[in-house]
Amino acid sequence: MIIVMRKNAGEECIRRVCQVVEEAGLRVHISQGEEVVIVGVIGDRRKLNGKPIEVMEGVEKVVFITDPYKLASRLFNPVTTIVRVGDVEIGGEQFVLMAGPCAVESKEQLFEIAGFMKRLGVRILRGGAFKPRTSPYSFQGLGEEGLKILAEAREKFGLLIVTEVMSPEHVKIVSQYADILQIGTRNMQNFELLKAVGRCEKPVLLKRGLAATIDEWLAAADYIMNEGNFQVILCERGIRTFEQKTRNTLDLSAVAVVKQLSHLPVIVDPSHGTGISKLVPPMSRAALAAGADGLLIEVHSNPEKALSDGPQSLNFEQFEKLFEELRKIAPVVGKRL
Ligand code: PEP
Ligand code: MN
Repeated sequence: MIIVMRKNAGEECIRRVCQVVEEAGLRVHISQGEEVVIVGVIGDRRKLNGKPIEVMEGVEKVVFITDPYKLASRLFNPVTTIVRVGDVEIGGEQFVLMAGPCAVESKEQLFEIAGFMKRLGVRILRGGAFKPRTSPYSFQGLGEEGLKILAEAREKFGLLIVTEVMSPEHVKIVSQYADILQIGTRNMQNFELLKAVGRCEKPVLLKRGLAATIDEWLAAADYIMNEGNFQVILCERGIRTFEQKTRNTLDLSAVAVVKQLSHLPVIVDPSHGTGISKLVPPMSRAALAAGADGLLIEVHSNPEKALSDGPQSLNFEQFEKLFEELRKIAPVVGKRL
């Protein structure tokens, strides 16, 4: 439920409305737009016991939200969220690239890729230390050793780090090393993990579940935000469909839909979205044109030798070419790269 205040409603009116809501045992979230102030009510609105909020001074109207998410909704918070990581802003004019290998394989491998990203001007380095592999016999990642290598790369090259966290027990340690915590597609509905990252202070990159509807994805974002962490970045990474020519079906329409429904930034992962390196550049260009706030791309110095996801990883030359193309498109669609 949201309470829309009248344009001229003073602070005292807003305070009184909040007081009534809080006294009923509910929480409030105030969103101060340029035009209106919205008091979002968090919790079971039946606790209000029919209190006639709509007749209180300064109240324009009361709107009931029937969606399974509230905090991620644009109704609840019409002000577009910008997630700040270091001096990078995700969700504003900047088009943000996060790139690097699927997995951290060794210090040499990561440093070579980090050095390349630094020279190109990419600010956020990706790399998995805890890997959610489909088969238990595939390379599972270097774990904490991988986190340490990522942290060394951050120091040496001045890059920001995004890496996946797979279980609630690991949230603490991963957040010691990472700048952004990634929740992978397989964990989008791991509610205990969502709540755990919701209690930490690092921004969270929330990938869409491989068979999740947009409503389920936004409800997952609410699990994080409901614990107090509002720094959520959504990431479309392809969904399961009947199509066999690509690893997943990259749902770019979801970007446009989410932009309407939610105030949160949304980025696109065309690497997992297609599974095929040749398809990554066209889908990246399309994502930028569709209104995405950035991209998460797998890049490897030698994709044929990669321990995971080589077939979808760009080599340096391919990535550099794509980077130049995106740089040309960005200003045309109102973004800066
Ligand atoms: C990844 O980014 O390395 C990854 C495992 O992605 P997803 O969870 O989308 O499969
Ligand atoms: Mn991968």
